[in-house]
Amino acid sequence: MAVAESLAVAPFLRSSPKKLFIGGRWVEAASGKTFATLDPSNGEVLAQVAEGDREDVDRAVKSARASFESGSWRDLPPAERARILWKVGDIIEERAAEFAELDSLDNGKPINEMLFFDVPVTAATFRYYAGWVTKLGGVTTPISFPGRYLNYTLREPVGVVAQIIPWNFPLMMAAWKVAPALACGNSVILKPAEQTPLSALLLAEVLQQAEVPPGVFNVITGFGETAGAALAEHADVDKIAFTGSTEVGKLIVKASVGNLKRVSLELGGKSPNIVFSDADLDRAASSAHLGIFFNQGEVCTAGSRLYVQEKVYDQMLGSLASTAKELVLGPGIDPMTQMGPLVSEEQMKRVLGYIDSGKKEGATLTAGGARAGGALARGYFVQPTVFAQVDGAMKIAREEIFGPVLAAIPFTDEDDLIAKANDSVYGLAAGVWTNDVKRAHRVAHALKAGVVWVNCYGPTDPAAPWGGYKQSGWARELGPNALDLYTEVKSVMMDLS
Ligand code: NAP
Ligand code: MG
Repeated sequence: MAVAESLAVAPFLRSSPKKLFIGGRWVEAASGKTFATLDPSNGEVLAQVAEGDREDVDRAVKSARASFESGSWRDLPPAERARILWKVGDIIEERAAEFAELDSLDNGKPINEMLFFDVPVTAATFRYYAGWVTKLGGVTTPISFPGRYLNYTLREPVGVVAQIIPWNFPLMMAAWKVAPALACGNSVILKPAEQTPLSALLLAEVLQQAEVPPGVFNVITGFGETAGAALAEHADVDKIAFTGSTEVGKLIVKASVGNLKRVSLELGGKSPNIVFSDADLDRAASSAHLGIFFNQGEVCTAGSRLYVQEKVYDQMLGSLASTAKELVLGPGIDPMTQMGPLVSEEQMKRVLGYIDSGKKEGATLTAGGARAGGALARGYFVQPTVFAQVDGAMKIAREEIFGPVLAAIPFTDEDDLIAKANDSVYGLAAGVWTNDVKRAHRVAHALKAGVVWVNCYGPTDPAAPWGGYKQSGWARELGPNALDLYTEVKSVMMDLS
């Protein structure tokens, strides 16, 4: 472990192996086993982490259940729960350096992206949902049934909620799930991804610091096939919220059938970013660059299919190839780094496999196309890669790559574009670039995607709903929509006669 002692997060990393957080206490896995999490910029071990499994999941579910039934959280006055969640946002801001360094080391992402995006959005998410706690009311409903009745609804927490998250935005994905679930009064068990288990543990420290009662928030680190599957199957988990691949999302659905637990899914994408010839091309080009290279392209909404109208295709592609070649690669923890390594060797190999397939299927490589060598050869770095003249039938145009690989596809007119853009099993996000306001709305309405950005790509706010059409998922997170995921509606009918 060669982490610099000057880092704010050094004390956290020094206390290894990291433990599970169950019932407000730090405990070892029942099996005593641990696993290593790596720094993908050099393949070195960053920390040892407890390998939670079925027995630990069971303990966590029991503690979440006990805290839920005791009312220690859900029955607090709403203003008090709001105050605590707001405080979580404040502490995250105070400890921003630790969180930024931690995910940067564990995932590989540039520390500046953590400081300017992941950490502030995380704090904002806790504050946004803190604001909802005092507003979770029901409605009174006029009743036509013969007689005199008073009908009103209550919004009650679902109960014990399990949440499974991926490795691409470890802290922010946790916040998107934990903040609304706690705002609604649930008790939570969070399982972070095996590649990036650390920031969930730091978040547990923060929730403890903010005085979230014991058992209300639990963290089980471990593997998906064991700990994750145990959560998805557990008969005393009332709801499971999952973010990850479409493939595993389908397994979650199957596993949830036993007790028909509520399921919400945020899954993969292959999002079209569309540039019409009348657009502001400079802005479209720099945004398309960020749309695919931000976070190493490991973004569910990455603008991985770039559709450019024929007239301006060569100009756009020329500009994208040259900015891709200028990107500064390096370890995420170095503030000069603009793009970090991929999260793991496995992910790097997967992405390189797609690059090979693009070459074999005859797409034109205009930038990148290989693993980065030299001083970066020890890490899992892939060069920012741009393929031009991609055909919609090629694998690189159809499958989610989840890496810094852009597939650029020309189109002729609006009808041609809509057919091509919607020809995907996914429907997560899309971007539209045009200065024709009517066309902007027409295309935004025609796209089968849960999030549409017009003349921008990527702005994300906790108040705006997030989620996908088709195989990109079930339901919506963020915004008021997430409150529906974490509450049951009760209709109370009173005879007044
Ligand atoms: P993944 O392989 O599906 O894993 C996601 C989580 O599920 C991890 O915590 C994983 O644990 C766990 N898991 C794996 N197998 C499981 C099983 N059988 N039962 C229960 N849990 C299981 O996805 P990933 O590779 O981490 O993340 C990349 C994917 O996430 C991409 O497809 C991306 O598009 C998607 N994503 C979607 C959104 C969105 O908002 N729509 C946001 C971010 C990412 P292990 O780590 O131990 O495997
Ligand atoms: Mg790691």
